[in-house]
Amino acid sequence: MELDTHAYNDYIGALFAPQDSALTETLAEMEREDVRKINVSGTEGKLLQILALSIGAKRILEIGTLGGYSGIYLARALPEDGKLITLEIDPHHAEVARRNFDRAGVGHQIEVRVGPAAETLQQLTQAGEPLFDLIFIDADKDGYVEYLRRSLPLLREGGLLLGDNTLPDAVLSDTEDSGTKRYNAAVAASPELTTIVIPVLRGRGIDGLTVSFKRTAAV
Ligand code: SAH
Ligand code: MG
Repeated sequence: MELDTHAYNDYIGALFAPQDSALTETLAEMEREDVRKINVSGTEGKLLQILALSIGAKRILEIGTLGGYSGIYLARALPEDGKLITLEIDPHHAEVARRNFDRAGVGHQIEVRVGPAAETLQQLTQAGEPLFDLIFIDADKDGYVEYLRRSLPLLREGGLLLGDNTLPDAVLSDTEDSGTKRYNAAVAASPELTTIVIPVLRGRGIDGLTVSFKRTAAV
């Protein structure tokens, strides 16, 4: 039996994540531009925003921009001098996202980098990019384990590493495999991380956000 989570998601969304015009216009622009709406839900977006706020994040890295919907939530957690770098392989998605960021009034805090994320992560490392406070992985699922390996050195101690869509059906099977199932196993095994999966509501059923804290020397 599939749990009808729609009503719960609507309740939480209406109370805690009402959609302003920047967010509804972002989704409308994605519709007009034929960008698939595989963005986070509003309620999950609000969760991302609160996680970023709670650690006082000033530098955020997102892997997988799409139309900029989750990016707007993350950018809204930043102080005025904060920065979001978001990585996207599809130039059309990047262009749509940039328009949406500008309309939302956060464009000046966001850099969209176009290219395969694994390569861009390598460039960020080589360029000696300052460390990030929060990294949100939400691109191609088969890349997650590699993104973990390449992005963990870019995260400060005490920072948060988030992985989206981490409760695929495969996690309930002994035989099935999936990129995000492998990711969960990898973060669980990492001595640098303390991790849990938070189940999040979708329109139908549930999904997961894997939340990992990069340990400091003390914990
Ligand atoms: N974070 C977005 C959703 C991202 S969907 C939101 O919630 O609003 C996943 C995105 O990852 C898509 O836009 C896709 O084009 C991009 N992507 C897929 N493979 C990629 C890769 N190898 N490198 C960078 N981006 C990639
Ligand atoms: Mg996602």
